[in-house]
Amino acid sequence: MHQMTLAEIARGLADKKFSSEELTRTLLARIAQLDPQLNSFITVTEDLAITQAQAADARRAAGETGALLGAPLAHKDLFCTKGIRTSCASKMLDNFKAPYDATVVAKLAAAGTVTLGKTNMDEFAMGSANESSHYGAVKNPWNLEHVPGGSSGGSAAAVAARLLPGATGTDTGGSIRQPAALSNLTGLKPTYGRVSRWGMIAYASSLDQAGPMARTAEDCALLLQGMAGFDVNDSTSIDEPVPDYSASLNASLQGLRIGVPKEYFSAGLDPRIADLVMASVEELKKLGAVVKEISLPNLQHAIPAYYVIAPAEASSNLSRFDGVRFGYRCEDPKDLTDLYKRSRGEGFGPEVQRRILVGAYALSAGYYDAYYLQAQKIRRLIKNDFMSAFAEVDVILGPTTPNPAWKIGAKNADPIAEYLEDFYTITANLAGLPGLSMPAGFADGLPVGVQLLAPYFQEGRLLNVAHQYQQVTDWHTRSPAGF
Ligand code: GLN
Repeated sequence: MHQMTLAEIARGLADKKFSSEELTRTLLARIAQLDPQLNSFITVTEDLAITQAQAADARRAAGETGALLGAPLAHKDLFCTKGIRTSCASKMLDNFKAPYDATVVAKLAAAGTVTLGKTNMDEFAMGSANESSHYGAVKNPWNLEHVPGGSSGGSAAAVAARLLPGATGTDTGGSIRQPAALSNLTGLKPTYGRVSRWGMIAYASSLDQAGPMARTAEDCALLLQGMAGFDVNDSTSIDEPVPDYSASLNASLQGLRIGVPKEYFSAGLDPRIADLVMASVEELKKLGAVVKEISLPNLQHAIPAYYVIAPAEASSNLSRFDGVRFGYRCEDPKDLTDLYKRSRGEGFGPEVQRRILVGAYALSAGYYDAYYLQAQKIRRLIKNDFMSAFAEVDVILGPTTPNPAWKIGAKNADPIAEYLEDFYTITANLAGLPGLSMPAGFADGLPVGVQLLAPYFQEGRLLNVAHQYQQVTDWHTRSPAGF
């Protein structure tokens, strides 16, 4: 039962082959049995899951239909969930129970999904390895000594290990696509503003975007359908109609123009990944696509710009956690200054503190023009590069990550080594574009992902290309030994 995709579950439930409650109980037992090896959940919401599954079964018995009615899911632990711990994987919010549901959570619940729990992540979504969690590192089911990617590493590991068919993630610089690549999943970061950010604990507000993580593009289409849409509570949410993502999955790729940026094949790219990327291009050519070399001349400035803008926004967003109104409060403060200092010093982990310091520095009066303003100018140049590229091609294809999953601890001594892993993903966030990662092969038993980028609001196109690719390849169907 645990091998089923969301689309298969939807058919099984519609055909009354099993109930949502049966499926939910099976998956909860699997989580109890297998998650101790992975640490992919921070909270398992067993009682809520059974109640929601029974409610979904009752709705179906009353004649209701719907692809997500009774579908089991988990949410990254930065989506507010009413009455349930929402920790952001930080000691700062260890005992925080959200007073309301995030829009994404509420929309998916209204569609009838069943919440199995809250997944582990990097603290405040800062990281690419899921090692910075207050609740400990997450292990990659493909090799338990390796990272699953981050920051949505718990969602990735849980779905890859078949503990559940899909999960939510968020992507500020790659945190859906990168863990999807490292764990053999399909993950989609929508256009900025496509999915509401209301009730998502903010990391960098101009970059954050929620999206689905699942095994197939078909499943991502179902999940995105349940998540996307305008929300009056999010002033950056965009009032554009939501297309039927499943309806466009089978469109022909005949004549599709794929651009491959020449700057992608730089020294930092593992040659095994370069080969798998080119193999995926060959598959898409067989389906009728035409391939063209393009250029993104400002690509090499993306990491420095991102690692100024994201920490700058984070330093502002995280200033509310001061131990007074929000967050952990230290024991026996001497005075107010001591309370601020120790609450923040004890409540935030080292990576979060590093980002707050970098961000506050970049925003400070004497340095603002030199760093923050400069980074914003680079951001515009990167967006312009994409606009020129999309005048010539329909999608851009390349690696999702420069390397496959690395060993837990391997990059701990050098934070910049971990930042470099975001080379291919962060440009989409800086420009606000949609991006998808899909399974494209293995390097020494570890999964490799290929990334597709498209113009604004063309999530349907990305899902279409990935779905067609998944009709002629079987990488996405492979499951890790022992799970
Ligand atoms: N790895 C990037 C960072 O640490 C991206 C994280 C994310 O997308 N949330 O900032």
